[in-house]
Amino acid sequence: MKGLGADGPYWDALSAGELKLPRCADCGHWHWPAPFRCADCGSWYFEWVATPIEGDLYSWTRTWQPFDGTENLGTPYVSVLVELPEAGGIRLLGLAADTETPKIGTKMTGAIASSHVWGRDVPMIRWSAVAA
Ligand SMILES: [Zn+2]
Repeated sequence: MKGLGADGPYWDALSAGELKLPRCADCGHWHWPAPFRCADCGSWYFEWVATPIEGDLYSWTRTWQPFDGTENLGTPYVSVLVELPEAGGIRLLGLAADTETPKIGTKMTGAIASSHVWGRDVPMIRWSAVAA
């Protein structure tokens, strides 16, 4: 199924085992969340660029309560915000591969996995610290 909305190509790429993020075809600025129109130059045109699933841990939080749609994750789980230098420093949310306490600034690498939310399989990124 083709992804809908401004971020449809992101979901299509993840489903195909790849991370793609939008870069304005006119001014070259990266954007996330995906917009329909570039906030910097007004262009309607984006390139969806294959991007390494690597970055630096910008922030994180540990969740102890199950929320609607997250029951299959179990608790606690750790959500991470990872800054991607290869994509203009935009930041992606994802899940940590374990519940260890992460350290801000750690080099991270992600693997595409699947989660089950509201009866549907949804692709996601599970992030792990790069071994020093
Ligand atoms: Zn632009």
